[in-house]
Amino acid sequence: MKKTSSPRRSPKASVKSSIKSSAKPSEKSSSRASSKRSKVAKRALSDNTSDTTSEADTGWPMRRSVLARPDRAKYVRGEVRPSGCVFCLAANQGPKFESLCLYRGKTAMVVLNKYPYNNGHILVLPLRHTGDLTDLTKEEHTEIHDLLREVVRILRQVYEPAGFNVGLNLGAAAGAGIPDHLHYHVVPRWRGDTNFFPLLAGTKVVVETLEQTYERLLPSFQSLF
Ligand SMILES: [Zn+2]
Repeated sequence: MKKTSSPRRSPKASVKSSIKSSAKPSEKSSSRASSKRSKVAKRALSDNTSDTTSEADTGWPMRRSVLARPDRAKYVRGEVRPSGCVFCLAANQGPKFESLCLYRGKTAMVVLNKYPYNNGHILVLPLRHTGDLTDLTKEEHTEIHDLLREVVRILRQVYEPAGFNVGLNLGAAAGAGIPDHLHYHVVPRWRGDTNFFPLLAGTKVVVETLEQTYERLLPSFQSLF
């Protein structure tokens, strides 16, 4: 490839090149490593673009130096959980949309499921971080079951479902997404509310956004007890 200067070379690239050319001997090894990294990045870019920038133009960042990384999308979409327990975080934050917490009691709380199976999919769980049902105190056990009853009553009033699935996945092998922090599911059900989507596309269609569900349910939980 003929070595020519790009007429649209960025000012940043020029500054970086001049720094490289005046590098002291002690800086030369890091400069060589930097140059190697630039070449690797350049090779990756050449797969996706028709950029004909020469080796002389390897200042960083380069014009059009966009590296596609679709594998990072899972972080953007929030599929990778933040460090720490999201339920403990919600317990600390209390009722607000950001935490999805609808009600925080003395020892237990009610939160919306971030990935609902159906509209109004709610979780009831202890405030305390435990994944063991037999570890619950009498007070936690009682409050969780009082809240389960209230959740069913409120969902019945607000959504008028034909039925409910109420249950607990105890342990990862049983399907618990967050096995270290116990949580009961309450899922409102309507006749014919399942179709081919969950089976074929691994995707459940819900007709409300989480914001709409939260706003719809919050007043009922604010007047609870
Ligand atoms: Zn926790």
